[in-house]
Amino acid sequence: MIYLDNNATTRPCPGAIAAAHFAMEEAWQNPSSTHRPGQQTRAKIEMARRSIAELVGCLPREVLFTSSGTEAIHLAIRGVLGARPRTDPPPLVVSSPVEHSAVRELLPELEARGEARARWLKVDGAGRLSLDSLAEAIAEKPAIVSLQWANNETGVIQPIHEAARLCAAAGVVLHCDGVQWVGKEETRLSADGPAAPLLTLSPHKFHGLKGVGCLVIRPGVRLRPQMPGHQELGRRAGTENVPGILAAGAAADEARTWLSDPSFRAQQGVLRDRFENAIVAGCPGAVVNGAGAPRLWNTSNIGFPRLEAEAILLALSERGVCASAGAACASGSLDPSPVLRAMGIAPEVAHGSVRFSLSRQTTREEIDRAVEIAIRCVNSLRASTSAAIDPGS
Ligand code: PLP
Repeated sequence: MIYLDNNATTRPCPGAIAAAHFAMEEAWQNPSSTHRPGQQTRAKIEMARRSIAELVGCLPREVLFTSSGTEAIHLAIRGVLGARPRTDPPPLVVSSPVEHSAVRELLPELEARGEARARWLKVDGAGRLSLDSLAEAIAEKPAIVSLQWANNETGVIQPIHEAARLCAAAGVVLHCDGVQWVGKEETRLSADGPAAPLLTLSPHKFHGLKGVGCLVIRPGVRLRPQMPGHQELGRRAGTENVPGILAAGAAADEARTWLSDPSFRAQQGVLRDRFENAIVAGCPGAVVNGAGAPRLWNTSNIGFPRLEAEAILLALSERGVCASAGAACASGSLDPSPVLRAMGIAPEVAHGSVRFSLSRQTTREEIDRAVEIAIRCVNSLRASTSAAIDPGS
């Protein structure tokens, strides 16, 4: 198997597996129990919290564990709205049309419940946010702005530092969805990082386990818990997912080690470019969605005009290459990705767009083999499609 679907999830790293194993064998007691083993389990959770804090450059007490990135996003947006007095009209929530569905589908739900009004910002052809449209929206004093740091489908990086400055100057809370950024790129909230009062991250995107997410809450943010109770300093109830949390801490430590040497990242970026250039050269008409904008080193979203992404994915999968069409949660649907639609990508390209996403574990041999397979799949699908359109040719 050549796994190029790392934006969907990553393979747990050895430290994460060992930590989860330890939690199941040794630290399985309830961390809220007052007896010694319970308190030892609590101490392990606090070590994991410190590891996450070190990964993003904040204080451990600012890190809150949830069940997923999605839950952290809901807590950020719903929590900020819930901490305000109810108003008529309801408060404004600003976001962009290229967000992950966790945000994109939450806002219409809040509108339907009369809890918020949504405003969607403009993006350009690469899916980069228009700062002018953000400045205009901020002038309307929204309750919260929610923007991703990097896009899950294209890897395009948003001007989050500028957005954070605009929000901070106007006293508007910014939630940054850092799920695809954190663990792949360096994050230093306390030093030169974006002044986002709320940051979401998800350890299964950097070789931790699924079933745990984090919300970083900087000082001064008022948040109403969505699950009241005593855990997580009263901000999120529910007995902790100890294996997931300990694995998250170990994954954060390994990610930090990897990130500390920029040459590792550069090396993987070279692999992504090698892959992308070879595919474009070998598949006439192929286009890279989001090219030209700054992008994560690991993501390549390639459109193969007049082909169906599902057919390409099946052909790749049969030959051992795992990729996906847009967001993993949209796989199986024939609707073109809303992200590509918001970028104004032509429907015949959007329908045939495939996301390949590397990890720090991807090797050059895998990339070269994947290139060979992908070119063969695309060109044979193309040949059969043109034969079907023009049986006489
Ligand atoms: N935000 C982005 C940008 C994502 O890519 C994802 C998952 O793909 C999420 C949020 C949701 O995270 P989780 O899978 O932990 O719920």
